[in-house]
Amino acid sequence: MRTAVVVGAGIGGLATAGALARSGWQVTLLERADRVRPGRTALVLWPNGIRALRALGLGDGLDAIGTPLGESGVRRPDGHWLVQPRPVAAHRAPVVVHREDLHDALIAGLGDRLDIRTGVQVDDVRTGGTERPAVTAGRQAFAADLVVAADGTDSAVRARLAPESAVVSSGCTAWRAVIPWYRAPKSLEGRPAGGETLGAGYRFVAASLGERGSSGASTRGGVYWVATAAGAPRPEPPATQLTLLRRWYAGWPEPIADLLEATEPDDLVQQEVRELRPLPRSYAFAAGPGGVVLLGDAAHAMPHHLGQGACLAFEDAATLAAAVRDATPGLALRRAIEGYDRERRPRAATMVRQTRRMSAVLQTRGRLALRARDAALGQITPRLLGSAASTAAQWRPPA
Ligand SMILES: Cc1cc2nc3c(=O)[nH]c(=O)nc-3n(C[C@H](O)[C@H](O)[C@H](O)COP(=O)(O)OP(=O)(O)OC[C@H]3O[C@@H](n4cnc5c(N)ncnc54)[C@H](O)[C@@H]3O)c2cc1C
Repeated sequence: MRTAVVVGAGIGGLATAGALARSGWQVTLLERADRVRPGRTALVLWPNGIRALRALGLGDGLDAIGTPLGESGVRRPDGHWLVQPRPVAAHRAPVVVHREDLHDALIAGLGDRLDIRTGVQVDDVRTGGTERPAVTAGRQAFAADLVVAADGTDSAVRARLAPESAVVSSGCTAWRAVIPWYRAPKSLEGRPAGGETLGAGYRFVAASLGERGSSGASTRGGVYWVATAAGAPRPEPPATQLTLLRRWYAGWPEPIADLLEATEPDDLVQQEVRELRPLPRSYAFAAGPGGVVLLGDAAHAMPHHLGQGACLAFEDAATLAAAVRDATPGLALRRAIEGYDRERRPRAATMVRQTRRMSAVLQTRGRLALRARDAALGQITPRLLGSAASTAAQWRPPA
């Protein structure tokens, strides 16, 4: 039986492990945490991410938990529309999912033939000679025909195989929260919660997760928001961070103040935004009868400005699953992972380029630069977002 080790039980690792196990691989999933945990916030899934999940056979689960993003435009802090809200055709509409719901759907897709080992922190990888590739965690070694490194931005496997790629700060910090439906501001009743507001080094995006039970099987409705600000993470406790956020976003268009008011310190998740520079030179490393591949943030961590990180991880998983579906260990499997590398690197590079353009707009600082940015913002932002959305949407799963 063909064997695979997947390192990391984030959403990329879970999607890949499930896909391989369902197509007959014997899979061992290694996770450093003491249990496989979902994140506390939410994600926007764009049409490419949705297509990838469908290709992975997880579409039904998604239909039950996704809330369509609906009409949502982009405003300046003074309320001026940069991109007017307009209806989106159903097949092109992004959906918002609670991470716990997505996690449950991915866990359900793992099946029961998979070996999950928690509390295993991978610290090295072996790719020499004719032996099967292996990862090690202290004294333990896990060898398999295929090793999938889905161990996130700080990937230990990537650090070893692609040391040219470093993790650097993107120059900004993100705060996220899901306000549960029963605490959502009253002012939102009957009005859309969603939309994006873009200011000088600051950005605020909100999306509705529906009311309890209103989005199919999900009981995790509410309102999700993400605030991004240029600069380093704040060392203060969450209550003080929340006070700062309320101050920074004071006077911004409704419902931002109401959302921040309804947020409690425990809802808040602060994260430094980081990325890989440069991207790894390869996503596939042949070893013995197979090799090691990089997937998800381990392969292409990027700022969240276009909301594409998880979508690309699902694309990676769908592409890898299709590439190795019929590949037997030996030349066929090595060729299959080379094919994965050929497909995925240009795609990730394109999305990273688009994301960096958005980073540049977001981080413009200084009075003169800002005036120029404000003048150009009305033209640049719609074009940038439009072309990023269409590049993202172009992806089709391999046959
Ligand atoms: C503010 C913000 C908003 C975002 N919004 C969106 C969005 O709307 N849409 C979207 O598509 N993307 C979004 N993203 C990006 C998305 O969250 C990530 O791209 C995605 O979660 C990456 O998944 P992953 O499985 O590759 O990595 P991770 O989620 O980081 O998972 C890695 C897993 O590996 C484990 N691990 C790490 N090291 C080891 C080790 N040495 N041994 C064993 N296990 C290990 C970790 O514990 C973890 O479980 C956002 C990101 C941020 C920061």
